[in-house]
Amino acid sequence: MARLVMKFGGTSVADVERIRNVARHVKREVDAGHQVAVVVSAMSGATNQLVAWTRDASLLHDAREYDAVVASGEQVTSGLLAIALQAIGVNARSWQGWQIPIRTDAAHGAARIADIDGSLLIERIESGQVAVVSGFQGIGPDNRIATLGRGGSDTSAVAIAAAIGADRCDIYTDVDGVYTTDPRIVPKAQRLSKVSYEEMLEMASLGAKVLQVRSVELAMVKGVRTFVRSSFEDPSAIPPAGDDTPGTLICDEEEIVEKQVVTGIAYSKDEAQISLRRVQDKPGVAAAVFVPLADASINVDMIVQNVSEDGTLTDLTFTVPTADYDRARKVLEDAKATIGYQILQGSVDVAKISVIGIGMRSHAGVAADAFRGLASRGINIRAITTSEIKISVLIDAPFTELAVRTLHSLYGLDSN
Ligand code: ADP
Ligand code: ASP
Ligand code: MG
Repeated sequence: MARLVMKFGGTSVADVERIRNVARHVKREVDAGHQVAVVVSAMSGATNQLVAWTRDASLLHDAREYDAVVASGEQVTSGLLAIALQAIGVNARSWQGWQIPIRTDAAHGAARIADIDGSLLIERIESGQVAVVSGFQGIGPDNRIATLGRGGSDTSAVAIAAAIGADRCDIYTDVDGVYTTDPRIVPKAQRLSKVSYEEMLEMASLGAKVLQVRSVELAMVKGVRTFVRSSFEDPSAIPPAGDDTPGTLICDEEEIVEKQVVTGIAYSKDEAQISLRRVQDKPGVAAAVFVPLADASINVDMIVQNVSEDGTLTDLTFTVPTADYDRARKVLEDAKATIGYQILQGSVDVAKISVIGIGMRSHAGVAADAFRGLASRGINIRAITTSEIKISVLIDAPFTELAVRTLHSLYGLDSN
């Protein structure tokens, strides 16, 4: 007997027929004698629709009311799945975040889970009842519904797994695991049987949306064994939680025997470039630029600054989330006099391509290979950042797919 969390994403619960299929996956584990808590997302497209309605109602809306609206998608699927389970003879009930409760901080719209009291859930699942939990939501210190940011059901699942001491957290989705890059854009991508928490954290934060970044952080901190797998297999054709189920285990680095230099390639079109031209090259300039951005809660990612030839004027380039681009420009225009730049340029038509691998720690020349590969395709690099286990380059967005494919082949990741 094991204790499992099974999480199903939007495409897996897209309509009632798929919800019935999910119910069969759950029944398989229950029949095998396991205790099960299920976490569900909203039906695919539902959250986008709810978000659009809040914007329609007013662009400047109250974040607490936004949460009241967008959390409703998950409430629908948790109820429907509980009904579908009951219909096939499985004892089940739905749970909203506030009923458990899943306590969050006050950051409505992008709240962090502060604490989960798992005792009620444990009591019920030990009595043989399946708990169907609405993902993406909890309750804030103000006693109001709070949502966890887009893709947040992954985080709900890992947090529940930690709270009830689950043996594993299975993330069922529309792909059968984590691939060397997004299989939708590179058909030759290969499924990874294991990925370290650290690499998965980099992949997720650099654009691989298969898992929400916070879910990986949490899995790493709490040591939750997280297994990414497909919900589209025939539920009756696979053994219950078998060892040879196709999927990807996110685990400690020590568990990975065959370490590659490069594990994966990620891309993101969610960043925009800003360049300040003819900035005075003197102490305090970086602070004059980045403090007002930080005060406006705008995250700056890549930063490139040239050293000026004669110590007077230089250029400063950096990236901000595309969603914050207009706000960032406004902040910088307001601070123009204190910063002392002459021209502000920017572009949202850029993409960040990243190469990730723990093997980079001990291998030289990985970055040089990437630069050579991109150059051979005529792809210009606008900015570069590196860390111990990743290299990111900023390029023109129309070259995204070409760049990802080029790097994927170059590091020997293509399947035969
Ligand atoms: P869910 O609705 O189940 O949460 P998501 O759409 O959030 O599913 O995540 C699954 C998608 O992530 C896949 O369909 C795939 O296109 C995308 N993806 C991006 N990068 C990767 C990767 N490296 N491996 C697997 N899937 C990836
Ligand atoms: N339904 C939410 C979203 O679309 C949460 C999730 O699916 O994980 O972002
Ligand atoms: Mg998702």
